[in-house]
Amino acid sequence: MRAITDDVTTDDRPAALRGVCAGYRRHPVLHDVTAEFPAGRRTAVVGPNGSGKSTLLGVLAGVLPVLSGTVRRPGSAGPALVAQRTSVSDALPLTVRAAVEMGRWASTGPWRRLSKRDREVVADCLERLGVADLADRSLGALSGGQRQRALVAQGLAQRAGLLLLDEPAAGLDVAAQRYITAALDQERSCGTTVVQVTHDFAEAREADHCLVLRDGRLLAAGPPGDVLTRDVLSTVWGGVPAF
Ligand code: ADP
Repeated sequence: MRAITDDVTTDDRPAALRGVCAGYRRHPVLHDVTAEFPAGRRTAVVGPNGSGKSTLLGVLAGVLPVLSGTVRRPGSAGPALVAQRTSVSDALPLTVRAAVEMGRWASTGPWRRLSKRDREVVADCLERLGVADLADRSLGALSGGQRQRALVAQGLAQRAGLLLLDEPAAGLDVAAQRYITAALDQERSCGTTVVQVTHDFAEAREADHCLVLRDGRLLAAGPPGDVLTRDVLSTVWGGVPAF
């Protein structure tokens, strides 16, 4: 399927964290994390529950301030952050189309009238995630898989050079996972830097680059084939996962 990506701001320099410490009030989570996120590639962030994966994504997105260290985000446009679907209230009175249109506010500013171009991008993103026929349904009334696809469509609509996703395919059926995987592959092939938190071994193995967190520290970084050692598998998944 065609993807409208000619307005994506890409940058050959990687996004990076240097000596980053971050956390919540008096609860430090990330400790001296230095990591790069290769430009135009897909990076998987893995680690046990509570190891700081979502916190790292929040720092990279700029929604969580660092206590010390620096964050480099390439491109002039801000990153797009796709949160977990469970963070969306069932009562949110928003249609799928309106949610995806909000993705365009990153470039137009909030509550601005959408241009023809904006509407084309929104239609393209709805189509690519297979949710065009749900566009007029309420986001809160969708199944988990449909809702997650709508949130990924919203992230894509921002046309950001850096796309950050928190467990985008967790717990979804195979069809929903395929839509999301295909969309992320397409983004990468258009030069977007994709960073995704995942607890799925197969997904991590498919990435170009892998970061492993444990207790808020970077345990390993590199190509998945090198990084996903028996020790790491045991740390993250409690053994060698079946696949
Ligand atoms: P992961 O994504 O690897 O499961 P998180 O980054 O979500 O880990 O959480 C790391 C630690 O930070 C956990 O101990 C968690 O309880 C804590 N934490 C996460 N979000 C918040 C928050 N909003 N306020 C306070 N503590 C938080």
